Amino acid sequence: MKFETAKNLVKGFLIAGIVCCVAAMLTNTNGSIASYYLGMGAIGCIIMCLFFVVAGLKCPWCGKRIIRRCLVLKVCPYCHRDLTTGEKKKGKKSK
Ligand SMILES: [Zn+2]
Repeated sequence: MKFETAKNLVKGFLIAGIVCCVAAMLTNTNGSIASYYLGMGAIGCIIMCLFFVVAGLKCPWCGKRIIRRCLVLKVCPYCHRDLTTGEKKKGKKSK
């Protein structure tokens, strides 16, 4: 799995989970069954999110797991390669 794909999936499920969670809280006041399903959906989304964090959020080049700041990192903090292209970055600007 590509790092970029995993990152987008994690982000997607995280947002879906939060949306479900908020929707469940909003519908909870009515005591409706919808809040129950939304709550279950939220938990499902969070589990999927964690699954993709564990399964996909690692450097494709050195295999180290990247969890901290994984959604903003562009370069692997361990081997300093670009997470999508594999280009070596050494701080020096090269064309
Ligand atoms: Zn790496």
